[in-house]
Amino acid sequence: MAKRIDGKAISAAVKARVAQEVQTLREQGVHPGLAVVLVGDDPASRIYVNNKKKACEETGIYSEEYALPADTTQEKLLALIEELNQKPEISGILVQSPLPKGLDEAAVVEKIDPHKDVDAFHSYNVGKIMQGKYTFLPCTPAGVIELIHSTGVEISGKQCVVIGRSDIVGKPMAMLLLHEHGTVTICHSRTQNLAEVCRGADILVSAVGKAHFVTGDMVKPGAVVIDVGMNRDENGKLCGDVEFGQVEPIASHITPVPGGVGPMTIAMLMKNTVAAAKLQNGVRS
Ligand code: NAP
Repeated sequence: MAKRIDGKAISAAVKARVAQEVQTLREQGVHPGLAVVLVGDDPASRIYVNNKKKACEETGIYSEEYALPADTTQEKLLALIEELNQKPEISGILVQSPLPKGLDEAAVVEKIDPHKDVDAFHSYNVGKIMQGKYTFLPCTPAGVIELIHSTGVEISGKQCVVIGRSDIVGKPMAMLLLHEHGTVTICHSRTQNLAEVCRGADILVSAVGKAHFVTGDMVKPGAVVIDVGMNRDENGKLCGDVEFGQVEPIASHITPVPGGVGPMTIAMLMKNTVAAAKLQNGVRS
């Protein structure tokens, strides 16, 4: 039976370390600050923004929220980003995704000062990640790496399979596993013999967004299984991509949903905000 990887406890430990670092920085006159921009009234986005605000309070990070109406124009949004780029109290800028239809999300991301891009979605930071010379890592994949480290299982030399190739999860996830010397395969909707490819994985990361997607026959005995998916099942209950009941007896370690990857994403955002403040104030780690 797999050990459950406790994302709640691991994220609490990350946030405690961040809080300590914030305290030390404050004593040096450096005050990390995060601006969260929310456009429109998507209820899920509102919950994410509230959780980010709460994490700032827990870690002592100063935060500002900008809640804009759904009919905000691209020009107005870009003007706000420019204002935040210039604002010294703000070390990190996060624009909550998805933006309402009609707004060009890619252009908004490119407007963020790369040194304040705590999501690490700006093309400058994406390039840095490719080169392995990063300041910021995208929060979800970085959180997954911490969860894998917590198991004590070495990534180096292992067969790692990532299902999903999105810019925010799948691609950077594969790159981080590669930086840790994993042998990485990326799967997507056109992959042939998906179950067979997955069965070869010592470390399997699923970022598909479909409930019940990863079944027991797709998992190698003793594999580490990380479930990034956040879906609703037939009863409206939050669940991941992994058929937990089938996979738990086969894997060596597994993340639950909720309580696995989700809490790590926010903890890593706090970590990135502190890294941004240090970068902007010339503080070395
Ligand atoms: P996305 O942009 O929709 O990407 C999904 C990926 O899954 C795509 O690359 C797609 O392949 C692949 N896929 C879809 N059907 C497939 C199939 N039948 N076989 C193999 N691959 C298939 O989603 P995302 O933004 O990466 O998010 C993925 C999941 O993670 C979602 O449930 C999301 O809510 C969750 N998420 C969680 C967190 C967290 O903090 N826990 C953070 C971010 C995202 P193609 O490219 O070929 O279409």
